[in-house]
Amino acid sequence: MEKTLSIIKPDGVSRGLIGNILQRFERSGFKIVAMKMIRMNKRQAQGFYAVHKEKPFFDSLTDFMSSGPCVVMILERENAISRNREIMGATNYKEAAEGTIRKDYATDIEKNVVHGSDSPETATFEINYFFNQLEITGE
Ligand code: ATP
Ligand code: MG
Repeated sequence: MEKTLSIIKPDGVSRGLIGNILQRFERSGFKIVAMKMIRMNKRQAQGFYAVHKEKPFFDSLTDFMSSGPCVVMILERENAISRNREIMGATNYKEAAEGTIRKDYATDIEKNVVHGSDSPETATFEINYFFNQLEITGE
């Protein structure tokens, strides 16, 4: 079974989309094996998105990610990383497929409601960024 890190971003939390998004994950065969609500400060958001530190949108992105609470969770199933990215839809909601979270709810390329790991290496980094072993059920 593969694990991936998912985040309901501050726009998804403030707009009352937590229940809807969790239901989509559960109905798609994911097991939620860890979950909590956190509010990152600017420095913590910069650490999480360090791979993007040279991008022009880095400062705005890390302001957004530290603007309010997020729900962070570990999702488990076969091919969790790629299946989660399918359910999320493309980064740019205008290119996202019908029925995806971003197609249904994103309002711009930055405020796109959810995050998902994009490789096994980033999944390991991101899971360890937010969770310790005690917080992960089933192990
Ligand atoms: P995420 O990493 O959040 O799951 P992603 O992998 O689809 O999304 P990335 O390329 O890793 O997309 O970008 C990280 C985040 O940065 C995006 O989800 C979005 O919030 C923001 N972002 C990406 N591209 C842009 C852009 N051109 N302008 C503004 N914000 C952007
Ligand atoms: Mg990404």
